Amino acid sequence: MKEDFFRWKELLRYRNGIERYEKCMNSHRFIDQSPYYFDYHHVLKTKGVWLVCSTCHHLAILQEKDKAFILTCQTCFKVEKITKHENKIYVYQYTGLCKKCGKYLRYDIEAHPYPIITKPCTACREINVLNLQKNAPISYKYQKVKFLENGLDPLTGKPLYFLETFKGKAFWALNLEHLNYLIAYVTADLRERDKSHLVWKTAGHTLPKFMKSSKNRETILHKLNKMKQKLK
Ligand SMILES: [Zn+2]
Ligand SMILES: [Zn+2]
Repeated sequence: MKEDFFRWKELLRYRNGIERYEKCMNSHRFIDQSPYYFDYHHVLKTKGVWLVCSTCHHLAILQEKDKAFILTCQTCFKVEKITKHENKIYVYQYTGLCKKCGKYLRYDIEAHPYPIITKPCTACREINVLNLQKNAPISYKYQKVKFLENGLDPLTGKPLYFLETFKGKAFWALNLEHLNYLIAYVTADLRERDKSHLVWKTAGHTLPKFMKSSKNRETILHKLNKMKQKLK
């Protein structure tokens, strides 16, 4: 009796599952991914980031394995080990006391290091001369966002394989899985978070605004499908 009850419950759950699935298919319901699934670093460690091979201009895949970054061309089989991050941006620290109000001032500048700079005081706007801190450790920022915004891979500076522009702004897919995700995302009538992830943010939230806007949907979808044509 008890067993029957459990079997019945299981059957019900199974039937509900099918119904839900059918509903999804009919309404183009879209289940979003977890927010970090298509994070650049996560993709590097898993399926890899798709780039353009600088030798043959075909697909090359960049992956992180055992803390090394390996770029492998799928056509000419050129294998490159990326040892230096060419695209680190160094940040120089300038400090001093405001000569008028005595406030401690610190400016971090990303650029060629000049021995001194002139900057206004953040409190009283007095113009001060600040010195480069030679003994302070020079930190660096790894400019992931800046490079991706221009459609370039931040580690190698090479263009991404799936790359298009919309009104002068680059948009991209990191690999085929990401491209399929974007196509599904834009196609979907209804965007729904996958309840199983129990997180408020979804991968969809990290997309540029213009990709989410319904008025651009058709153009974006057309361009995403154009990207996919590259594989044929
Ligand atoms: Zn190649
Ligand atoms: Zn001041």
